[in-house]
Amino acid sequence: MLQSFQYCIKFTRKFSIGINNRKHPLMATIKTVLIDISGTLSIDNKEVPGSVAALERLQKAPVDIKFVTNTTTMSKKTLYEELTQTGFDVDINEVYTALMATNDFLKRENLKPLFLLPEDSVKNDFPDFSSFDGKPNSVVVGLAPQQFSRANLNKALRILLDGGKLIATHQSRYIRAADGKLSLGPGPFVQALEYASGVRAVTIGKPNSQFFMGALDKIPPENAVMIGDDVKNDIYGAQDLGMRGYLVKTGKYLEGDENKINPRPYKVVNSFSAAVDDIVASLNK
Ligand SMILES: [Mg+2]
Repeated sequence: MLQSFQYCIKFTRKFSIGINNRKHPLMATIKTVLIDISGTLSIDNKEVPGSVAALERLQKAPVDIKFVTNTTTMSKKTLYEELTQTGFDVDINEVYTALMATNDFLKRENLKPLFLLPEDSVKNDFPDFSSFDGKPNSVVVGLAPQQFSRANLNKALRILLDGGKLIATHQSRYIRAADGKLSLGPGPFVQALEYASGVRAVTIGKPNSQFFMGALDKIPPENAVMIGDDVKNDIYGAQDLGMRGYLVKTGKYLEGDENKINPRPYKVVNSFSAAVDDIVASLNK
């Protein structure tokens, strides 16, 4: 009990630096809705109850929609196919992933990466980096349980000790796994590499403000809301940029998560469906 309280304090401090006493932006009209996928719309290829119908309601409203995800276990194409098969009517151009942002970063920095990512993601989302001459000069880490062997982590460590860059697609502490239990995310592995090498990681996905700005594509943050189940990556990240955050009580949500950030989430709702109802109602006012 005491331990979890201490954790909560530490967590709150870490993610509330510089944002104390900030208020939510005035109620500017919502023009864009950013939606997290895993844990918010679906869990392990099954819709969160009511989400398919709720997305249809939102698509009839005068807002742009973007699906923003840190998911690295599958490529954008596979993710799109799974969403469609689950019943969601999604345009592939509305999907913005941490892998896309990572690919842009690697190009910009002209890097030769070792990937600790699933093969499907590397093949489809990093076509320009599948082979190169010479040794890797960077390591890209995402959620890739099959890749986190001691041998691979040692390979990564040696690149970093040689002066390589460490790039984290995201640093989630844990995820809701297919068996319904919380399981290690990529964050602990990134931090193990940081600890061993002394190299600080660059984090590309949520909650990085550059990631949200890429997804918003010039829409002012005050005209946008973010719906997600991760209080730090989705809600803190979005609100830090000036958006409003709807925290859903599905997926990885744990009781009391809303108290771990300051300011608290704009709204805490039972599900994606409830968030949509609130947004649609606010547009009709
Ligand atoms: Mg999520």
